[in-house]
Amino acid sequence: MSASLPPTVLAGVPPPAVAPSAFAAPLHAPTLEAALPGVLVETVVSTGSTNVDLLARTRAAAPARPILRAALTQTAGRGRFGRKWLTAPGSALLFSVALPLAQARARSAAVTLVCGVAVAEVLRDAGVPVQLKWPNDVLLAGRKLAGILTELAVDPRGARTLVVGVGVNLWFDEATVAAIGRPVATLDECLAREHLAQSREAWIARLARAMLAAVPDFVAHGFAPFQPRFNRLFAYAGQQIELVEHGMVVAQGEAQGVDADGHLMLATAAGARAFGVGELSLRPRAA
Ligand code: ATP
Repeated sequence: MSASLPPTVLAGVPPPAVAPSAFAAPLHAPTLEAALPGVLVETVVSTGSTNVDLLARTRAAAPARPILRAALTQTAGRGRFGRKWLTAPGSALLFSVALPLAQARARSAAVTLVCGVAVAEVLRDAGVPVQLKWPNDVLLAGRKLAGILTELAVDPRGARTLVVGVGVNLWFDEATVAAIGRPVATLDECLAREHLAQSREAWIARLARAMLAAVPDFVAHGFAPFQPRFNRLFAYAGQQIELVEHGMVVAQGEAQGVDADGHLMLATAAGARAFGVGELSLRPRAA
């Protein structure tokens, strides 16, 4: 099994008929271990949520080195604020990374944006033209391809661990699409299913490596170096959007990108405003 990624982009070409059973084989831990030196690798066939698993462990005791936990299936995948992340068995790259943190800065919500940049850049390098929706979604053609959930664990001695969960859709079945109830995207729109079935470990390793590099960079240098990288990938620059909190629209205006703290800059009727992540969600405004 190879850890390299053939950048075969087949935009516009219908995916070959590779059955979902091609994605049923358990993930191969030795391939991941070889591609991620210094990382404790765990693969499971099924779990509730890889983030919940790692949060429980790292709340009990911060790990000495990073942990990667990948699953074929999650039975209780989560988004922000307890929203559900739904996937059919084998249909997504599902993993969490636990990173022990030495500095308080990584408490900043901007770390979510940093992980989004890392994931999006890996996908773009492989020819998948993704963009980012502030704060934490990876979009393909305006539809959600991947979600990122960052959570912080503090152990009884006060040591902090950042737990980052990533779900990237590979393919979809109709029942899951119907259950999600909104437009979604899958990697097999751009990359051959056959390739995806053979390279799940390589993808997970590349995505994890990018985050394992980006987070310490952010901890050391702050969000400023990531600001232009996020803004290059931002899907809504110059577009009319609204910010929603608990179902209520709290602001609307033209999205201008993020500032050097990762706050969303909005040109509103009352002037320029910047919004921290908090519990806000961005929604495009109907034309
Ligand atoms: P926000 O803009 O606040 O991130 P969001 O609605 O995208 O809003 P998240 O918490 O990021 O919320 O993600 C959870 C949501 O993603 C779910 O409520 C559902 O609408 C959608 N979703 C669930 N499973 C998938 C999936 N496999 N692929 C794409 N979208 C999904």
